[in-house]
Amino acid sequence: MKEVVELLRELVAARTVNPPGDELRGAEVLRDYLEGRGIPVEVDEFLPGRANLRAEVGEGGRTVLLTSHLDVVPPGREELWGGDPFVMRESGGRLYGRGTVDAKGSLASMAVAVAELSGERLKGKVRFAAVAGEEVDGMGSKRLVEQGFLGDGVVVGEPTSLKVAVTHKGRLRITLTVPGRASHASRPEEGINPILRAAGVISGMKLLSERFSERKHPLLGPCSLVFTVVSAGEKANMIPDSCLLQMDARVVPPWTVEEAREEVEKFVGRLSDELGFKIYVQVEALGRPAATPPDEPLVRTAMDAVEVCGVNQEGPEGFGACCDMQHFRAAGVPTIILGPGELSQAHATDESVKEEEILRAVRVYRELVRRFLC
Ligand SMILES: [Zn+2]
Repeated sequence: MKEVVELLRELVAARTVNPPGDELRGAEVLRDYLEGRGIPVEVDEFLPGRANLRAEVGEGGRTVLLTSHLDVVPPGREELWGGDPFVMRESGGRLYGRGTVDAKGSLASMAVAVAELSGERLKGKVRFAAVAGEEVDGMGSKRLVEQGFLGDGVVVGEPTSLKVAVTHKGRLRITLTVPGRASHASRPEEGINPILRAAGVISGMKLLSERFSERKHPLLGPCSLVFTVVSAGEKANMIPDSCLLQMDARVVPPWTVEEAREEVEKFVGRLSDELGFKIYVQVEALGRPAATPPDEPLVRTAMDAVEVCGVNQEGPEGFGACCDMQHFRAAGVPTIILGPGELSQAHATDESVKEEEILRAVRVYRELVRRFLC
């Protein structure tokens, strides 16, 4: 039964590169598939070309929502791929193409599982949502939360190698601007060199990086704070007027992005005083850390479901990247991350997923829903 592989092929062919997104194309593929299986769907085109798809089967009892995202990251340099990134290729038991793992493999498996479950008498409701915007701002999932299209539990499809993950890190982008004064390079005494000042800032920030790495989560490991971009100057004969430093911070629960932001701002303020010049700091929260308590019934049910499908897992895991789980947790709904494929394949050239894992994912989702709704 390779229905799921064919559905994945069609989803990969629907170019939903974000930006701009164009998720409507992917939503239409899923609509045709689900309607073909007699399941009513709603395509919610909330901006031109940007859409969520929603479907629901069963009634009464508990509700579980299976969800993942339609958008994919750009393919990068296409000539480095073994073929067209939007034409799925099969080789050595793997399926290659942009989105096979992040996260159209999850979507295809969820859709087929829902179609199969629609033929059973369920003791509750299973909802399915394919959302827009995960790779940029989470607009699709935020919209589901606003609409209350949730459940007693949410399963977010992301590549976890079909293991149950209950937590992910949050992410911040920190921009430090170190001012100087421009001058001709032959008259350095008339300028203030921001590059030399930035050297002091870089070494001063080391202490804060160390403090970040002291905060650890048992499943996610430590927080981190690293320099990722340094830029200053346009010409070799001119002292520039400022130097820009960018940092990436990863935050683990229970620490929040607000607390991390405050710590960064305070630290930079003190460093400014120490160094004797103003450092301008801008902190943007790009994702919040999230966690579901491991003793939630959803987590235990999911652990049982993966086990009967032959996945070996000692206990719930942490997910190494940020994802839409944060929005469902912010709404207070128990949420797990569970999907086919390895996280290392996400955003990679020649992204691929094991065909066997996609087939197994259909069973995992079906089993999970049956057990959760009983
Ligand atoms: Zn993803």
